[in-house]
Amino acid sequence: MADTPFPTGTLMAGKRGLIMGVANKNSIAWAIAQQLAAQGAELAFTYQGEKLLRRVKPLAESVGSSLLVDCDVTNDDQMDAAFATLKDEWGEIDFLVHAIAFAGKDQLAGSFVEQTTREGFKSALDISAYSFVDAARRASEMMKDGGSMITLTYLGSERVIPNYNVMGVAKAALEACTRYIAADLGPRGIRVNAISAGPIKTLAAAGIGSGRHMFRFNKAASALQDNTDPMGVAGAALYLLSDLGLSCTGETHHVDGGFHAIGMPQETALRDSLAE
Ligand code: NAP
Repeated sequence: MADTPFPTGTLMAGKRGLIMGVANKNSIAWAIAQQLAAQGAELAFTYQGEKLLRRVKPLAESVGSSLLVDCDVTNDDQMDAAFATLKDEWGEIDFLVHAIAFAGKDQLAGSFVEQTTREGFKSALDISAYSFVDAARRASEMMKDGGSMITLTYLGSERVIPNYNVMGVAKAALEACTRYIAADLGPRGIRVNAISAGPIKTLAAAGIGSGRHMFRFNKAASALQDNTDPMGVAGAALYLLSDLGLSCTGETHHVDGGFHAIGMPQETALRDSLAE
């Protein structure tokens, strides 16, 4: 981890965990992975298909990881194989990062009530919410001495965000799943939390109609009047996944410049952003 911009230290020394959802260097999961590695964590990664392996492998190698497993979360055989590989290699793990979501592009624009199809709904909920339940159950079997898990969500679960549509419904389900998983695994010393990040420019965000407006509006209307820095999300992940997060579980923690706290943005900030 030479030249890392992420604070270095030993908060994750001796801890091993699985990162699901690195697609490229802009992925939120990659910022989290770098921060965890900078604090001494040993990491394994899942990727989806050979094309992504080409992108994820050099990133993994840069943080000293050679444990990469192919895994489409909708495929039970691949989930079985991925977690079996992890068990063979490590036996036990300490943490899980779930940063996976998907909805078809046709589901992420226009009218929610008109555009949402049964198949689109099922696939968004399956990939973006059920996959956390499935991964959490499998990961928990490898957490013999307690552990910590996080997932990534967005404010579209709580309020209507134009074009976010079925993904908002999936994120609401994901946050509810987080609470239920936290209650089930709590007695085993496993903490389970969600980070609600503000908009960050990634492949997934590019799929949402009106993305440009979302970034400009978020910047203008947030308390910090700035867009969300992936390093802030990575810092929150470090807190929740390390022993610093002791006693924190079942929580949805906002890292969005305070956007969620604002009822009405300042008129001037808003006017300037719309005029840009
Ligand atoms: P990203 O880099 O595109 O990451 C999304 C990941 O999900 C990719 O690695 C993608 O792999 C994976 N994925 C999708 N379908 C999958 C499947 N069936 N099996 C396995 N993996 C699958 O985008 P990101 O923004 O970092 O997204 C990470 C998480 O943060 C998501 O849950 C997202 O909703 C959440 N989030 C993002 C923002 C934002 O503004 N960017 C804000 C709040 C929350 P493929 O590329 O192979 O499909």
